Amino acid sequence: MTRDKFLNCLSHATQVIEYRRIKRICKCGKSVCGKFPEKVVAPVQYGMRVQAMVALLSVHGCLSFGKIGQLFADLYSCQLNTATAQTMVQRSAEMMPMEVIKAEIIASKTVNFDETGIKVISDFPR
Ligand SMILES: [Zn+2]
Repeated sequence: MTRDKFLNCLSHATQVIEYRRIKRICKCGKSVCGKFPEKVVAPVQYGMRVQAMVALLSVHGCLSFGKIGQLFADLYSCQLNTATAQTMVQRSAEMMPMEVIKAEIIASKTVNFDETGIKVISDFPR
């Protein structure tokens, strides 16, 4: 018996969750309005998976914000502008547990630094 395998990429769909709130006037005349979940802070926003993927593509994949936007347009039909991608990378960096990372590095017997991915101010934004 011989076996051949055929691998293919699955189509990736963008998940859109729409939150709605209803505003009504009560019998007593008071206006009553529902609330959005805490994480909903703008009319349109991206989820953490998108942010994580943008950070990964930028930092690990070394893709420019323009190329990340093009990739999202091609794969997800999603218009992600460069400023949004840049903000996502910044927010991801702010979420890093820097003190924990610093302590782990200090506690390590050996460390390895690769500065090829470091961005300098004059290269920002790409
Ligand atoms: Zn009432």
